[in-house]
Amino acid sequence: MTELHKIAIVGVGKIARDQHLPAISAGKRFDLVATASRNAQVGGLPGYTSLDALLEAHPEVTCVSLCTPPQVRYDDARRALMAGRHVMLEKPPGATLSEVHDLQALAAEKGVALYATWHSRQGASVQAAKAWLAQGRSIRRVTINWKEDVRKWHPGQDWIWEPGGLGVFDPGINALSVLTEIYPRRLHLASAELSFPENRATPIAADLVFNDPEGAEVSAAFDWRQQGNEIWEIRIETDQGLCLLANGGATLLIDGEQIANGTDEEYPALYDQFADLVEASAINVDLSPMTHVSDAFTLGRRLQVEQFYF
Ligand code: NAP
Repeated sequence: MTELHKIAIVGVGKIARDQHLPAISAGKRFDLVATASRNAQVGGLPGYTSLDALLEAHPEVTCVSLCTPPQVRYDDARRALMAGRHVMLEKPPGATLSEVHDLQALAAEKGVALYATWHSRQGASVQAAKAWLAQGRSIRRVTINWKEDVRKWHPGQDWIWEPGGLGVFDPGINALSVLTEIYPRRLHLASAELSFPENRATPIAADLVFNDPEGAEVSAAFDWRQQGNEIWEIRIETDQGLCLLANGGATLLIDGEQIANGTDEEYPALYDQFADLVEASAINVDLSPMTHVSDAFTLGRRLQVEQFYF
């Protein structure tokens, strides 16, 4: 049996507990050795309040998975890469594009793996949708609706309302990660409207229009003021039928008929891919979803909307 890669997690919060810890323990390629988090630990494992202390105490740890908010990710990623460790980044991979470029260059220099993950790309039906679109269909219109109740999905999370936290683009970037995975050509942002609550630094809603060089109408509506059930769907109208990728990429319907559906295996797939990258000391960083978000902040018209309180 091949030896497991010894891994540490940084930032023991919601996504670490919901997804990373179960995926690592269910998988067969990593052994979780320790965690670094200022206020939390994982039962039975050594816990440190800083990554520096963890790396010093555990030279056997070869891999570090960063589950902290994006604003604080760069310093720890750089620290881990400088120490010759392979690094996996939660989405979005950083607070700015240039800091991720820097991490890419550093990983290449150190000869270690760097994986900027996009968990929604691992949705059960994403590859089926990509394959359907790749069969020479002419795309006429794309409509993305990504709407959820921020109070339900991000209760009390202050960092998402701070600069670098992305606001509604925190979920919206998941839609963009799927779009950039399945769409047969490059798109670029044409216009955007971002709605900022009067008392917050990041938007609660965003409407985007993209330019498709072949003329399809492509738009996205992200909204955190959704009441009731969330909507995470991408509708693609073509000359040969309607493709609906629903439930965040789990379900594919063609002309209303369910073609594919699956359970959530996103994080086990991410850890398998990270293990492959570690074994090849390879880099997988695709910044296209984050580039669209960055463009929206550059190009978007800003509207002020009512104050938001949890
Ligand atoms: P979270 O629970 O609010 O934060 C994760 C942990 O990071 C915190 O518990 C905290 O642990 C640590 N941390 C370090 N510096 C921090 C700071 N300045 N502010 C707040 N926390 C800090 O967030 P999360 O929901 O797990 O999200 C983390 C990342 O995963 C984000 O990039 C998010 O987009 C991504 N993600 C989240 C979800 C989800 O469903 N929540 C899904 C997919 C991806 P200590 O206080 O112990 O240091």
